[in-house]
Amino acid sequence: MTFSELQLYPSILKAVTECGYSEPTPIQQQAIPAALEGKDLIASSQTGTGKTAAFMLPVLQKLYTKVKNPKGAPRVLVLTPTRELAGQVTDATRTYGKYVNFRSTFILGGVPYRNQFRDLSRPIDLVVGTPGRLLDHVQRGSLNLSQVEILILDEADRMLDMGFQEDMEKIIGKTPQDRQTLLFTATMDNAMAKIAGKMLTDPVRIDIAGRKNTLDTIEQRLHVTDSLNHKQRLLEYLATDKDLTQAIVFSATKRDADSLARELSDKGHKAAAMHGDMTQGARNRTLRRLREGRVRLLVATYVAARGLDIQGISHVINFDLPQCAEDYVHRIGRTGRAGATGIAISFASRADVPKLQRIEKYIGSKVPMLVIPGLEPMTNLAAAPRKKSHHRSGGPAKKYSGAAKGAKPSWKKGAKPDGPYKGKPRSERRAPVVEYR
Ligand code: AMP
Repeated sequence: MTFSELQLYPSILKAVTECGYSEPTPIQQQAIPAALEGKDLIASSQTGTGKTAAFMLPVLQKLYTKVKNPKGAPRVLVLTPTRELAGQVTDATRTYGKYVNFRSTFILGGVPYRNQFRDLSRPIDLVVGTPGRLLDHVQRGSLNLSQVEILILDEADRMLDMGFQEDMEKIIGKTPQDRQTLLFTATMDNAMAKIAGKMLTDPVRIDIAGRKNTLDTIEQRLHVTDSLNHKQRLLEYLATDKDLTQAIVFSATKRDADSLARELSDKGHKAAAMHGDMTQGARNRTLRRLREGRVRLLVATYVAARGLDIQGISHVINFDLPQCAEDYVHRIGRTGRAGATGIAISFASRADVPKLQRIEKYIGSKVPMLVIPGLEPMTNLAAAPRKKSHHRSGGPAKKYSGAAKGAKPSWKKGAKPDGPYKGKPRSERRAPVVEYR
């Protein structure tokens, strides 16, 4: 299928062609015709599948046709869970809508109200924002939702996870009943089905089996770790990999994000932290530096990096494994975007075994375990708690192939390990290649 078969106006097609897209992605093929027909939609698909264009192209088509709207109140409202995602949706709007004449603004929390009041007092066609601040404007009377024709809930499951359900419901309650609603979610559980039942009318269901498709372009690797120090040494090693163009390193806490970024910077890497304690301005500056290639390693907490769409992230490193299996898929989806391949590396200690098991159950496969000679773990996950039996895996762990430029190829014969085995006799430093399962 081609984009022109989707019956989009030439000015929209022109912008799409300029983006270099040759054909619509599966979600675009299914969502665009349904949305153009004015149907409600519930689409389960991950980020990285092209979902933003899947809703934005039909929206732009709608905005292309002028209607009488004396109040100049917004005709399209996009709700997103995070400020970063809102920023990305706005950027996408400008890219795809380059040749469409419309006015848009984004309304985010954590920034001063003054400019927002000014923007909202002018005629506007499209508003993108996060629920908290949007609701604030609705309640203050500065945002009039009575003219909304299309409502988009982007990453609706995340909004629920982040506790926005009540705000969402209040906002949606202010929009007209006969609006068109397009709901995008990565996961579809009972809570989401309930929300969808309340908010959508006779929706077209689209299920892009994103999980496996998205993961297909990502090579997953697991490193068993003994201690924080061991993880830091592994990270430093990985950071010298010449194939790593840019990476997001996920840490569990804001403090770790700061200290890891500092340590990496001290070692001469272009690293920066991003977490929720930073002001929006500081986050935007870091993102800009990342986009411009001035930051190579972004050490982030998940909440801060959720929804980021950065081209060229070659590696995602889970310095700490996420609590929830779905977050693992979301995190590693920051690499391998839209057809590109990516590498996702996770560190797991013995204590992480239950998390790892949940992840592997969720993705339906085992994450291959790799060992970096010289940085072999002493931990044997086979002996981890909650497992009754341990048996050998089908073969030895693969050697790490991303040898760093200038880094010592420590697996060479006779090489001395400088990892936790430093100074230990060879018999004691054999890599435990036994899988824990
Ligand atoms: P999304 O799932 O909306 O976050 O999109 C992920 C990435 O895919 C973005 O960087 C888009 O620029 C890109 N993209 C969207 N649609 C297409 C397409 N039809 N062909 C190639 N890339 C696309």
